[in-house]
Amino acid sequence: MQQFVTLQKKDLNTFISALVQSQKVVAPVSRGYNNFSFQEVTSGDEISLKYIPTILPPKKYFLPTQETVISYNKRENSVNATLEYEKMVIFGVHTCDLAGIQCLNMVFADKPKDMNYIVRKSKIAIIGLECNDYCDEYASCHVVDNHLPNGGYDLFFTDLGDVFMVHINTMLGDELVGKVPVFKPADDKALKALESVRQKKRSIFKDEVNVKHEDLKPLFDRSFTSKVWEDLNKRCLACGNCTNVCPTCYCFDIIDEPNLDLNTGARLRRWDSCQTEPFAKVAGNENFRKERSQRQRHRYMRKFKYPVDKYSRYFCTGCGRCSRTCMAEIKLKETVNALAKEAK
Ligand code: SF4
Ligand code: SF4
Repeated sequence: MQQFVTLQKKDLNTFISALVQSQKVVAPVSRGYNNFSFQEVTSGDEISLKYIPTILPPKKYFLPTQETVISYNKRENSVNATLEYEKMVIFGVHTCDLAGIQCLNMVFADKPKDMNYIVRKSKIAIIGLECNDYCDEYASCHVVDNHLPNGGYDLFFTDLGDVFMVHINTMLGDELVGKVPVFKPADDKALKALESVRQKKRSIFKDEVNVKHEDLKPLFDRSFTSKVWEDLNKRCLACGNCTNVCPTCYCFDIIDEPNLDLNTGARLRRWDSCQTEPFAKVAGNENFRKERSQRQRHRYMRKFKYPVDKYSRYFCTGCGRCSRTCMAEIKLKETVNALAKEAK
């Protein structure tokens, strides 16, 4: 297995066309007004190679907005577990979203293992695409160390001008490269060009907040009673947009939906959001996160404190989606800076 190969940019279409012969291929596509989304494509021409993070991250393919987990038939006294999956290639995943998928992998492989996620994941090939520059002012991928590739893909593409450098990371990646004879072993010139792209990135990408990577967790350890949460209490609309677009938010609800015959039906899993008022409501009408300040604090703690305690990893990938989408203009970088300022 060659570790690095190159692909002429003009041959990308040939590669994508070969892939669509055997499976669904999804990739970033322009939706207008500087919005992008992962959509099924049939040709390389449809793909936006330069894009800011898509409206929804690729998690929608690993954890669909809604899926059936069980179907039942009372007359037949039967209950069947359902596994919905589809073979596909996701092309063009940025390093922040690769990190998001790595986070979800850790959560759903933890006990009890989530077979719906694990089986679906095993059918999906991932092709990463490097950002040579910042997407926009909302990104904070450097401080969480996600601006460079760190695994989690089968192939990884870096734009070197006329060619892509392609890192083959898995046997599946090697199989994909073997589908069409358009890849060539990377020569010294291409390897040097890759090193120069990475060198340039080191000068472009800097910590985006006034806190160092290793100080983020201690900052959040001390921030439980911060006044910053009170400010967010006044501004947050509790719409749940920030959690829906987050690549590492995975909360869901389980809903039973009987059919009109009242004998058959299904149990569904549907995305949920900790930012909505009923999320933490329990029996007796108690709500242990009634205030928006508590819910906002919980969202941030679920990125910078709780997962570090449990998985030794920040669950903020720095994608900037929560800030980009928030109608109340609550910006993650500003929140972190406000906490840091208060803690001084
Ligand atoms: S997107 Fe903004 S307004 Fe909506 S819940 Fe999140 S922080 Fe609140
Ligand atoms: S918290 Fe915001 S910036 Fe961090 S991963 Fe989630 S959406 Fe992206």
